[in-house]
Amino acid sequence: MMARCRIKIQGVVQGVGFRPFVFRLAEERGVKGWIINTPGGVEIEAQAEKAILDQLVNDLPLLAPPLAQIEGISVWDGMPLSRYEGFSILESSLGTERSAMISPDIATCPDCLSELFSAQDRRFGYPFLNCTNCGPRFSIIRDIPYDRGRTTMKAFSMCPLCRAEYEDPRNRRFHAQPNACWDCGPQLRLKERSVAGRDCIREAYDLLKQGKVLAIKGLGGYHLAVDATNAEAVACLRARKRREEKPLAIMAKDTATIREFCQLSREEEVLLQKPARPIVLLRKRSFSLIAEEVAPDNRFLGVFLPYTPLHHLLFSYEGEEGRLLALVMTSGNLSEEPLAYQDQEAERRLAGIADDFLLHDREIHTRSDDSVSRVIAGQEMILRRSRGYAPLPIRLNSASPFHILGCGAELKNTICLYKGEYAFVSQHIGDLENYETLSYFEETIRHLGRILEIKPEVVAYDMHPDYLSTQHALRQAGWQRIPVQHHHAHLCSAMAEHRLEGPCLGIICDGTGYGADGKIWGCEFMMGDYRDFTRLGHLRYLPLPGGQASIKKPYRMALSYLYAYVGEDLESSIFCRRFPPQEVQAVIRMVKDGFNSPLVSSMGRLFDAVSSLLGIRDRVTFEGQAAMALEMAAEETWEGHYGYAVRREMEGWIVDPIPLIADLIEDLRGGTRVSRIAASFHNTVVLFLQEMAQKMAEETGLDRVILSGGVFQNGYLVERLTQALVKVGLAPVLHRRVPPNDGGISLGQVAIAKARMASA
Ligand code: ZN
Ligand code: ZN
Ligand code: FE
Repeated sequence: MMARCRIKIQGVVQGVGFRPFVFRLAEERGVKGWIINTPGGVEIEAQAEKAILDQLVNDLPLLAPPLAQIEGISVWDGMPLSRYEGFSILESSLGTERSAMISPDIATCPDCLSELFSAQDRRFGYPFLNCTNCGPRFSIIRDIPYDRGRTTMKAFSMCPLCRAEYEDPRNRRFHAQPNACWDCGPQLRLKERSVAGRDCIREAYDLLKQGKVLAIKGLGGYHLAVDATNAEAVACLRARKRREEKPLAIMAKDTATIREFCQLSREEEVLLQKPARPIVLLRKRSFSLIAEEVAPDNRFLGVFLPYTPLHHLLFSYEGEEGRLLALVMTSGNLSEEPLAYQDQEAERRLAGIADDFLLHDREIHTRSDDSVSRVIAGQEMILRRSRGYAPLPIRLNSASPFHILGCGAELKNTICLYKGEYAFVSQHIGDLENYETLSYFEETIRHLGRILEIKPEVVAYDMHPDYLSTQHALRQAGWQRIPVQHHHAHLCSAMAEHRLEGPCLGIICDGTGYGADGKIWGCEFMMGDYRDFTRLGHLRYLPLPGGQASIKKPYRMALSYLYAYVGEDLESSIFCRRFPPQEVQAVIRMVKDGFNSPLVSSMGRLFDAVSSLLGIRDRVTFEGQAAMALEMAAEETWEGHYGYAVRREMEGWIVDPIPLIADLIEDLRGGTRVSRIAASFHNTVVLFLQEMAQKMAEETGLDRVILSGGVFQNGYLVERLTQALVKVGLAPVLHRRVPPNDGGISLGQVAIAKARMASA
């Protein structure tokens, strides 16, 4: 029996080869009708045997092109039969295509790869080949609707062969906006050696093998590359980039190569190969050819696979010394500055670092850093959400008529723009501590707002008065302003990505957040929904001697804990002998008098203190370093733990970690191995977080517990805590789509602002 139906598909289905995919499917199966792009997605009219139509609807999500993200399919059947010529792709009028979602940049697909290495193919060895299933998107889009003239590919006009592919719906390159080839597209050149074209690969290989630093222009910015097996070259890069200790990411040809220097689980292998190609944190093997300088004192390496044709060509090139095993590929910037992405600016800023530049003439319009992920409890947890992920939206649990901007926090900033049902979290912007990053922040708000057609009238921001993101929000005259408490934003960020209604319980552990009482929070037990929250308890307040400036000196927090434990006797303790007496006295005085020593309930600071007490890190060069080193130190099979106290006070439950510090010092004195003490510390944190979760559950009758905040990037902690919560009948919820750290704050702010506007 013949039937006719209309199918509406929502999601990321434009600019990803969706229409030609449906066209081919329809032709193959003798389905007649049409497909057209619409504001929210695509619409299809289809006519065929009823069984074939049912099969078609069934197959659409299953067979859809790799980049398509289907959010919803609705079908209307029983339409009267009509007359069609065949199946056609209808041109949509300009206006309707504007609200399409924008695809992120995507790694070279298998089809393009086989062309790249096939000597018969006309694109053999061409470093910029791509198709509708892969290649640059977000980074080259200047404006919408997404067509070639509004991308940085405008400068190149297609040759007749490329144009024919572009116009043929049966071709993989139908409407592939960055379509290009040797004859008509972008070209490579090596700046100092003035070499162009194919020879660049060989010359670049030589430079890298000689231990030189090469700046490589990529998809979302510049990388600085050196041979990862050459310790001297890595040290030289660190010195020139002024990056002393922070681990550097490395890229290697394939998963088999990665296995030579890292352990790889099935989940990690899948994650490495995702089209987004994130940097994945993997456990190092104890012996490998990778230079120790890449990630000193770290049990993990950040590793990723090639994601542009240029990367593939570099790793496949076989010179006299064989192939390149692995390259350090770190973002092209000086520490703390945003990624370089424009040619002249990059050449100026990287001139003192790079020995040569591997360049191309396709302009990068929007920069985006590499994303970073790890597998925790068998699933991906994103630590930095950027290239390959942004600007894919997160669908919230209900719609709102307001356009909203969430300004994010200070460190690891992202912004979030919202309209309809969708929250678009930006690429990673960075730490808003200097002028360059602040202008990147402002430019991202402008550009994303423009291409997503979001004109915010509501702005949500952190309650911290000093954050540059807060100050930006306060400058928006005439907008509805909604201040959001930092840890409430963490809670709602995780709730929003899982589309939970609430109220939920939350255990929020991070370094610093401005509390509703003006103190610095960071280990918060709360119950909340999108409108409001109640603080049910927290870690005991202790002074942070020297305030925020002391975050780079974890030993100061250690002294504060010791003072709380032993009081005045502190000065005679062995621990203090590691530091100049004047410094110890100054810290004690600050703590005693409360001078320049804000009260903090921060879990991050507790980790810092313990890291210093154990002699792991007394000083750090980047946030989270001491805590990370403490995690690395923990012996995984050790089950010991320490004491702690939980008290009921006026303001709620207070967890007192002083008994923990006492036991830990006892162990230290007794000569227990640091790895066991570190494990016992972690295990104790799991115990008191579990107990607090149970107490909150009893008090409220809720059983869902959100785990958010930067401390939950700690795999040792998260895996044990989730098991412990499940064991007592609670349901832990982890971040999966946005980071648990402050990179997720902007999403939480938006979710809260949306709810407050609805109830206002
Ligand atoms: Zn492709
Ligand atoms: Zn061409
Ligand atoms: Fe935070």
